[in-house]
Amino acid sequence: MKEYLTLADLQHDLRAGNTTCVKLVGQYLARIETYQHLNAFVEVYAEEARQRALEVDARLARHEAGRLAGLVLGIKDVLCLSGHGVQAGSKILNGYRSPFTATAVQRLLDEDAIIIGRQNCDEFAMGSSNESSYFGPVRNTADPERVPGGSSGGSAVAVQAGMCHASLGSDTGGSVRQPAAFCGVVGLKPSYGRISRWGLLAYASSFDCIGPITKSVEDAALLLEVMAGPDEFDSTVSGREVPRYSQKLAWEGQARIGYLRESVESEAVAPAIRQRTQAVLDELREQGHSVEPVDMTLLKYCLPTYYILTTAEASSNLSRFDGVRYGYRSEQVVDLESLYKQSRTEGFGAEVRRRILLGTFVLSANYYDAYYTRAQRVRKLIRQETERLLSQYDFLISSVTPTTSFRLGEKMEDSLQMYLADIFTVQANVAGVPAISIPNGLDEDGLPIGLQIMSRAFSEENLLAFSAHLSTIISNPEKENRLFEKHLPVEEK
Ligand code: GLN
Repeated sequence: MKEYLTLADLQHDLRAGNTTCVKLVGQYLARIETYQHLNAFVEVYAEEARQRALEVDARLARHEAGRLAGLVLGIKDVLCLSGHGVQAGSKILNGYRSPFTATAVQRLLDEDAIIIGRQNCDEFAMGSSNESSYFGPVRNTADPERVPGGSSGGSAVAVQAGMCHASLGSDTGGSVRQPAAFCGVVGLKPSYGRISRWGLLAYASSFDCIGPITKSVEDAALLLEVMAGPDEFDSTVSGREVPRYSQKLAWEGQARIGYLRESVESEAVAPAIRQRTQAVLDELREQGHSVEPVDMTLLKYCLPTYYILTTAEASSNLSRFDGVRYGYRSEQVVDLESLYKQSRTEGFGAEVRRRILLGTFVLSANYYDAYYTRAQRVRKLIRQETERLLSQYDFLISSVTPTTSFRLGEKMEDSLQMYLADIFTVQANVAGVPAISIPNGLDEDGLPIGLQIMSRAFSEENLLAFSAHLSTIISNPEKENRLFEKHLPVEEK
């Protein structure tokens, strides 16, 4: 099966008559079958996808097809598609079917995207390893004994293994970027309010963002462009004009780059990741960009702030799952209270229950000011510091994660270790700014490494253009070898 890095390449073949949507869907379905053991999909819409492929092929023949003709897409199990199941990787939504379609998904469908299935994820998008799903863990294609990252693990693996051309994930604290990094693909978290959240199952509403997972920055730009913009169903979406991101990917001139000192100097970051990040920074310096270290003084407060605020919001958002209105209801019920209690106890997994309890605690009358109000204040400080840095620099660069993919089960007993996987990603969500993860080579075990680039709110145009430029530096194999060699430990040179 031919691997297409960009939809433009694929559409070139479609137009030249070298392939058809029907053929492509058949190939992806075969891949899904081959890689069933990775557990990336919760449900595959085989017949429907084939049928739609026929329709899109017919539209292509009539020259009436949309801009995304040929795009075969998987969607994370938190995005609503009318008439289809959606259950956020949770037992509590067993049997629930959505009566409507998420705005972001609808906009892709309107441009002729074909949806091939819904993808496995951590329960209610809470997790960094895709091990908390009711449907069982997802495995990394690079090493099936290792996790794909989370919470959009199924979505990242599906793109990594060529089971679909692109995926839609959601990112509340890193859930698009961290699995993208672990799987060697591109993951974009747009600015808060760039894409409508209508039809996205809520985890923490003031952080949640829908984001594309793709093989190239070009496709991330194209998908963002189609999905972004105002929506009457979500009042938090910005009315700002949506640039034609995909047409503005040429990067020219010099950038002012700040890099997070910890991510290249701290002993807590794996040596291969530090070397790869450093190598890119060196190359940028050689190209004449200004590259300076940045100390994010509030870095250590990002995770606590994130966990206090997101658990508070989650405890409120998840209160609607009461056993009465949607999905699962316990059989062990004697009265209304036991119906709530039993349904929620049996329907939610351990991590979700932990976060609901934590969130309920930080919102309780006696502790509200000590935790919730204080965390809101710290959030403001983090946002101000981030904005200050982004007024001095065009981009903030760091590694995406402190380690590459870890083994299944390795961090399940230790929540703190699991939460640390997001140390570099949560800042963008706390501050509401866009951030992207692009592949930055492999470590000594052949596991993918990601590079994170962050920019000012609603400056995706620059972020994407610069990331496209960076990708060309990194994916140039000749240069890559040179870059990597330069940073090998002395004894291996
Ligand atoms: N891993 C983080 C968490 O567990 C981020 C999740 C996300 O972005 N949805 O909260």
